[in-house]
Amino acid sequence: MSHAKILFYDIETRPMVAEVWGMRDQNLALNQIREFGGVICFAAKWYGKSKVYFHADWKDGHEGMLKAMHDLWGEADAVCGYNNDGFDNKYMRGEFIRQGMEPPPPTASIDLYKVVRQQFRFDSHKLDHVSQLLGIGSKVQHQGHSLWTDVLKGDEKAQRLMERYNKQDTHLTERLYKKLRPYIRNHPHLGIGNSEACPACGSLNVQKRGLAYTRYFSAQRLQCKDCAHWYQGKRTKRAVRNIEI
Ligand SMILES: [Zn+2]
Repeated sequence: MSHAKILFYDIETRPMVAEVWGMRDQNLALNQIREFGGVICFAAKWYGKSKVYFHADWKDGHEGMLKAMHDLWGEADAVCGYNNDGFDNKYMRGEFIRQGMEPPPPTASIDLYKVVRQQFRFDSHKLDHVSQLLGIGSKVQHQGHSLWTDVLKGDEKAQRLMERYNKQDTHLTERLYKKLRPYIRNHPHLGIGNSEACPACGSLNVQKRGLAYTRYFSAQRLQCKDCAHWYQGKRTKRAVRNIEI
């Protein structure tokens, strides 16, 4: 199996605070915002390891929390999350630059939300629904918005609940990754030292399953016998005969 280090992670952010003149259809100007949003905590774990990291403003200080994330990201061969391409990765990079930190390495990213939307049509593509549908668990229940209010007020019970919630999302992400892996198209190549190894899990236990053709090339179609991922092996140029008209 692969020794690649896949980092699963999930962030929580704080809401903006604004002065508003009504409750519906508000169009806010920048000078109505009293506080801007930001990351308040994150949970992370390595693929196949049981330890779940949790760092938060209230435990590590904002800079300490960001540094912990930056260090983990720097060690990863790939980062994986649910909507992390659209949300978590971008949010984190925004925090890094605001803090004057260097960009994290250009690590491969696996966004399971993209995989779900590209490959399936479930009635809902929310993490909670997809997790339940695939039988891998569900999100920790909480009271909704007031959890954030309490966490930001410094309520320790609320902070512990947010920690549980955040960690559970990270567990779900890893379990979902295991379920979805064979369905991930263009899985970043995490196999070590061998171009024929399964890009998803690094296994060499693969089976040739025919050829895939393009106009000028044929490619060996392979399926991993360990994780069921399909991928293409060596491409060969096809002999093209000129047809006389
Ligand atoms: Zn595999």
